[in-house]
Amino acid sequence: MSGETDWAGRDQGELTIGGVGVRRLAARVGSTPFFAYDRGLIGARVAAVRAALPSGIHLSYAVKANPMPALLQHMCGLVDGFDVASGQELRHALDTGVDPSDVSFAGPGKRTGELTQAIAAGVTIELESEHELIRVRAASDALGIAARVALRVNPDFEVRGSGMRLGGGPQQFGIDSERVPAVLAQLGGSGLEFQGFHVFGGSQNLRAESICEAQRRTVELVLDLADAAPGPVRYLNLGGGFGIPYASRDVPLDLAAVGDNLAKLVDGEIRTGLPSARVVIELGRYLVGEAGVYVTRIVDRKQSRGKTFLVVDGGLHHQLAATGNLGQVIRRNYPIMVANRADEPLTETASVVGCLCTPLDLLGSDVELPPAEVGDLVVVFQAGAYGLTASPTAFLSHPAPAEVLV
Ligand SMILES: *Cc1c(COP(=O)(O)O)cnc(C)c1O
Repeated sequence: MSGETDWAGRDQGELTIGGVGVRRLAARVGSTPFFAYDRGLIGARVAAVRAALPSGIHLSYAVKANPMPALLQHMCGLVDGFDVASGQELRHALDTGVDPSDVSFAGPGKRTGELTQAIAAGVTIELESEHELIRVRAASDALGIAARVALRVNPDFEVRGSGMRLGGGPQQFGIDSERVPAVLAQLGGSGLEFQGFHVFGGSQNLRAESICEAQRRTVELVLDLADAAPGPVRYLNLGGGFGIPYASRDVPLDLAAVGDNLAKLVDGEIRTGLPSARVVIELGRYLVGEAGVYVTRIVDRKQSRGKTFLVVDGGLHHQLAATGNLGQVIRRNYPIMVANRADEPLTETASVVGCLCTPLDLLGSDVELPPAEVGDLVVVFQAGAYGLTASPTAFLSHPAPAEVLV
């Protein structure tokens, strides 16, 4: 296997997932390919985050990273709230029994029906535009319920080092910081319940120093904006964006450095300037990404002009990100392994391709693997976040894969 993650459990020459051998798990699931998420690893990751961040920080899970209902239910017992991005995510979040006041709803283009759902549920709507404020007021009036709202702010700075940037410059996300005082003035007489602010600068960031800088600058910005707020700031959502290693040369995030910086902010500027604010960090990928695997089976092994191809029964229609087609600029192999030959020497170089009729369906390019046969199980790691629901499952009309929480 290349780029092995250190958590990969093994027993008698095979990978184990949640303590279950991969062949036995495949038999139990009943078909390949499938996604398997390890509840123990999710729990351990949440515990590690809590240990590193100052106590009193509210940890929210961004549902879109992995919305599997059983996983959400598990997560509900571990984190302090959920961040949802659609009406369906909202319903699934509420199904877990989470307190609605611990749920936030972000995202541009929320439809009127979704705003109505959110107001009726009593969750916090993160306003992404000035027009959205007008629409929330109308929906609130129609229901006769005061909506809880926070302003998502598009800051006047960028977060460097993000794999995906969602703040700074012109953006479809949030209200430009220079427009925020005017919006706060409108909020004042609106009858809506003002909660606070949300700034989310970017996703998949492995650089602690740029996350720390973004958090410092966010607190500074919010301290400025708070002067114009119609009431005390009760909610300060500092976003997240903590990244995970995908390629072997990626260096894992220094979580302790992020935690130390946050502790200073909480004990300093936040305590003095925003004393009633509940400080929220919201994470998706970091909590679940490394706890999931995508398990496929080899259906063909072929040589073509000196090159070995292992053709598996899965592909980009289930795990688009691993093929480099989910916004990546350069394609790099995700860690991949012949899971029933975990202890065999890596004596062969092969490419692992999916079963779709497109050269884009490449799960592993020239990977060092043990010589593998038809029927072997090939596992792609780092598949717990933005996997199944971020992939074009209808492309080529193959059956949907199963998902299990082990
Ligand atoms: C997607 C999203 C997240 C989660 O991002 P990750 O990089 O998966 O942690 C958090 N907050 C908001 C508002 C989002 O849209």
